[in-house]
Amino acid sequence: MLYGCHVSTRGGYLAAAVRAEAQGAKSFQYFPKNPRALSVKSFDRTDAKRCAAYCTERGLHSIAHTPYPTNLAAADADQRSRTVSSLLNDLDIAEACGSIGVVVHFGIYKGAEPLAGYQNIITALNEVTAQWDGKAKLLIENQAGDHAFMGTTFEELATVRSLCNAPLQIGFCLDTCHLFASGGWNGEPNAPWLKKATETGVLPHIEAIHFNDSKYESGQRKDRHAAIGAGMIGEQGLRWLLQAPELKNVPFVLETPTEGAGSHKQQLERMVIWGTER
Ligand SMILES: [Zn+2]
Repeated sequence: MLYGCHVSTRGGYLAAAVRAEAQGAKSFQYFPKNPRALSVKSFDRTDAKRCAAYCTERGLHSIAHTPYPTNLAAADADQRSRTVSSLLNDLDIAEACGSIGVVVHFGIYKGAEPLAGYQNIITALNEVTAQWDGKAKLLIENQAGDHAFMGTTFEELATVRSLCNAPLQIGFCLDTCHLFASGGWNGEPNAPWLKKATETGVLPHIEAIHFNDSKYESGQRKDRHAAIGAGMIGEQGLRWLLQAPELKNVPFVLETPTEGAGSHKQQLERMVIWGTER
């Protein structure tokens, strides 16, 4: 069970891996650089390589998360080109740290023609993969629908991937809070969305789960994560997902609050119980 949590990189990438393990995590997510800016960071490769070696030795799995301003769908060509440079840098860091890939959202399209938004996403992904030959993948995350409906359905995820020039370099990260917030899941066990993920061909390419409960009800399109068991998804559905055989080798990474809701260590302990108890 590759359960883990988002951790800070204070002290470097190796420090992040050590910090994750101290929480009892088998997987973790980190920001490869300042999450609030689109930038190209010159990073400490020795530290990154030490992180990779440590993870191999301890059986830890990791994913990186792109900075918030990353916007594949941007209508503005300059913003998109800065997004491409930033993503290549994220992939470089993730590869050096031994990570599975880099989590990226569709982004926000503000132009007049929604189909052009999808075209921008595909163009940006193609520009990245044309310049990337490493093993780390781009992992597209489903969105909550808080800005627009774009990026919320399995059909969109599958179609965008299949229209890209290098689909093998593209996988998915499924966020449970976003799925619930978008109305794609009402929290029930044996949910139809898993069948949909299978039929659309998304399932085999889910390389990571963002395992988050939701502060708001299903369909509210509010991207507000809650601690495991402290939100609206509910224990039954979360238990079902933790025990889903289809996802048993996929890292489940918490991006949940800890204030008043239990530390990540405690939430991970809860996940271990819910993932094994019948
Ligand atoms: Zn997420």
